[in-house]
Amino acid sequence: MDKGAKIYVAGHRGLVGSAILRRLQAEGYQNLVLRTRKELDLTDQRAVYRFFEEERPEYVFLAAAKVGGILANATYPADFIRENLLIQTNVIDAAYRYGVKKLLFLGSSCIYPKYAPQPMKEEYLLTGPLEPTNEAYAVAKIAGIEMVQAYRRQYGFNGISLMPTNLYGPGDNFDLETSHVIPALLRKFHEAKVSGRWEVVVWGTGTPRREFLHVDDLADAALFLMRHYDGEEIVNVGVGEDISIRELAELIAKVVGFRGKIVYDTSKPDGTPRKLLDVSRLFSMGWRPRIPLEEGLRQTYAWFQAHVAEARGARGG
Ligand code: GDP
Repeated sequence: MDKGAKIYVAGHRGLVGSAILRRLQAEGYQNLVLRTRKELDLTDQRAVYRFFEEERPEYVFLAAAKVGGILANATYPADFIRENLLIQTNVIDAAYRYGVKKLLFLGSSCIYPKYAPQPMKEEYLLTGPLEPTNEAYAVAKIAGIEMVQAYRRQYGFNGISLMPTNLYGPGDNFDLETSHVIPALLRKFHEAKVSGRWEVVVWGTGTPRREFLHVDDLADAALFLMRHYDGEEIVNVGVGEDISIRELAELIAKVVGFRGKIVYDTSKPDGTPRKLLDVSRLFSMGWRPRIPLEEGLRQTYAWFQAHVAEARGARGG
């Protein structure tokens, strides 16, 4: 990928796409092709083909997807399966048809079987039943991975798939109903602190364990693999260690400066008990994450305060 290469980042306004874009720009890539959702509806096959025919990108980072936390996935399964199947099918097929040199597709750690042995190796994919709360999303993502592999086998198309663990960072969705746990808790603890409330409600029992990767580290891994990996096998991207939701809540309370009580609402789902990736494949290629969790949380909290909390205050909401 030389510096003048024409690169399309699909989903450049999302958490992952915006991190990849920041990274590409920081490294001096200038021939970037970007379209907002309004400019290009990726669920519209004809529009996607027309776009690829006109622009002819050489490299594609497919970071456009419908994503959400545990409640959003459980509430809108039809939207999750439909939008993701359409977006990825259209973009992968168009990339092949219009001569893209290489495409990077993003899976997710939540598409491994619910009771997969931990840490989860790449070969555990499709070896057991999925977590019911995000089954529709998972089936769509699995189809995307399979499609990338099938296009390599049948057409020799150079597509690779990454399996990122739970991500967080600037640009995340901080809506309490649809977000993932980190932005939700940053917001809940922040709002409790500024309004002087003494209690924050955390969903579930606090015992599930999750691994968290800063999205800038994911972007780093994405560029690393775009440059150095051309295999059919999927590649896990994570940090190699996890923490319980209870420990996470305590850490976020510390970062935010909330000194009240944390209570657990066990009527809310826990989801899968543990989700830790085996990252030995990626680590053996020489890649390592750089951002420790506490530092990443502090940086994300600062971003939240500057972009979300202040913007809401300014609107009086
Ligand atoms: P998951 O990794 O797919 O389960 O997605 P989430 O990030 O939404 O949830 C991770 C864990 O955090 C689950 O056990 C949730 O029940 C728990 N959790 C605790 N409080 C919250 C919250 O306020 N929002 C969300 N989304 N999850 C929470």
